[in-house]
Amino acid sequence: MKQNKEAYDLFFQRQTILEEVGRSGQSYLRNAKVLVIGAGGLGCPVLHYITAAGVGQITICDHDRVEYTNLHRQVIYSPDDVGQHKAKIAASRLRAQNPHTKITSSTLKFDLDSDITCYDLVIDCSDNFRTKFIAHDLCFIHSKPLIQASIHKFEGQVQVYRFDRKREEAPCLRCLWPDMPDPSSVQNCNEAGVLGFVPGVVGSIQASEAIKLLLGLPTLDTGETLMILLKNFTTEKIAWNKSADCALCNYDNVSFDSSAYGDTSAEVRYSEVNQSNWSIISLVGPDARLPTAHMCSLDNINELASQFGKDSKILVVCRRGITSLNGVKILREAGYQECFSLAGGLENLSED
Ligand SMILES: [Zn+2]
Repeated sequence: MKQNKEAYDLFFQRQTILEEVGRSGQSYLRNAKVLVIGAGGLGCPVLHYITAAGVGQITICDHDRVEYTNLHRQVIYSPDDVGQHKAKIAASRLRAQNPHTKITSSTLKFDLDSDITCYDLVIDCSDNFRTKFIAHDLCFIHSKPLIQASIHKFEGQVQVYRFDRKREEAPCLRCLWPDMPDPSSVQNCNEAGVLGFVPGVVGSIQASEAIKLLLGLPTLDTGETLMILLKNFTTEKIAWNKSADCALCNYDNVSFDSSAYGDTSAEVRYSEVNQSNWSIISLVGPDARLPTAHMCSLDNINELASQFGKDSKILVVCRRGITSLNGVKILREAGYQECFSLAGGLENLSED
């Protein structure tokens, strides 16, 4: 036991000698329970640094598996991990990194029924609007502090929401965005491209805000966004106001049903598709795995679909499953209701 205490003290010695940490600060970190949503580009640096700092209990929630195209930026993983659950691999690496921290993992998708009530802090490292809005609204409803971030090419944004302290007076995300933006309106990393250091820097800032928050040190204010442009290294803080009309701020015990978080019914996994009964439209050209696919572009997708009939089952595919969502939107507006996008696109096809 003494040996464990000595090892613990030695592990954190260089940070506990800081005036801002000390033994009391270290005990705040040790007693904290933190949920990290997403173990991808942002999640990797967040997890490395909060684990190394001695946050006592960390839960990693991610339903995704490691892909080869993740490895240049998701630096916890190596080629041998491809195909494995990120949450499980990350948990095992972090346990080896710091034996003084308890790490648990969940491979369930973070969703409206996820339980966040036992956590002192939620760090959202997800890469999609649906998860971000669900995490935000759940943290608001349960008065939990939340640290969110997102990246686009060379840019990053970080927000800290002190819903544990400032829920009544400070603005929330829905004061700025009453409704969730259309997911197909913004490119994600798969579509836009990303250099690994961008989520590395932005995730490290999330970790820094998390550790400061747990230590009781000042953080970003609720209702302001830290913008970081790494291409020319400029930073800026942009504040927004509380909205008098905000559905979340104005009504106690408000809740949103699943439809408020975007339409996931437009996607289908390949395992649910029987090629002989489905008409397949490819927006990216021929692929040996889909020999019956018809090629077209978004501009002439209606023209092509007209030969299938409005009641046909139609699968629209593209490389990464983003453009195909736009194709589905066009076709559904034209009356093709049995039309679906291949989730994750052709790059994800081998995962099925
Ligand atoms: Zn609000």
